[in-house]
Amino acid sequence: ATSHFSLPGWKPGSRSGLARRGLMLVLSSPSGAGKTTLSRRLLAEDDRITMSVSVTTRAPRPGEVDGKDYFFVSKERFEELRDTGALLEHATVFSNLYGTPRQAVEDALSAGRDVLFDIDWQGTQQLDQSAEQDLVKVFLLPPTAEDLEKRLRTRAQDTDDVVRQRMSKASDEISHFTEYDYILINQDVEDSLAKLKAILQAERLKRRRLTGLAGFVKGLRDAL
Ligand code: 5GP
Repeated sequence: ATSHFSLPGWKPGSRSGLARRGLMLVLSSPSGAGKTTLSRRLLAEDDRITMSVSVTTRAPRPGEVDGKDYFFVSKERFEELRDTGALLEHATVFSNLYGTPRQAVEDALSAGRDVLFDIDWQGTQQLDQSAEQDLVKVFLLPPTAEDLEKRLRTRAQDTDDVVRQRMSKASDEISHFTEYDYILINQDVEDSLAKLKAILQAERLKRRRLTGLAGFVKGLRDAL
């Protein structure tokens, strides 16, 4: 794998002493904007970012794998995790409980790995309170309302009732776009993916994410 980090001479664990703390990339959108496809593509094409797998009380959809798409848990188990502080954030969405396990995220970040979150605006607000410095917030919008409806209907995994419920929710979710750093209008997945990668690349180069930079620069200057 090529380094995403573009300072010459830098390698993880090399004698330069340079390292980078991982960042938290939040991708939020109304259901049906194409978020799942975009996330999967990013994860497949960038080996430095890992998905945060949430816990949920929602029933698995056909094809969903426990431990990969979600950790599917009972309400009792969810409440236990929440009450013992094992969740970084949690929220109720469409009357199901969702939450982000804390430990996996902290381990990844301190190892310099980035973490991708597919969470809603409620969870994003909570991360903003607790982890603002590590957070990069991206909101994905559908190009048109028809496009959103079509995607919800052709997904065909949800009942008509659920589709209606999700459409009425989409408008509320979209109203939170002002709380995000970056907006992607998802006309075309290739175009959105390229833009998402560009955001990630720029954010990885933020000075505040680097440790050991002062020592590295001192070494450079001493040699001049
Ligand atoms: P779905 O049931 O379609 O998988 O997800 C429904 C909504 O819940 C999506 O908007 C998704 O982003 C959000 N969601 C999934 N996991 C979490 C989580 O751990 N925390 C929060 N706050 N939202 C989540």
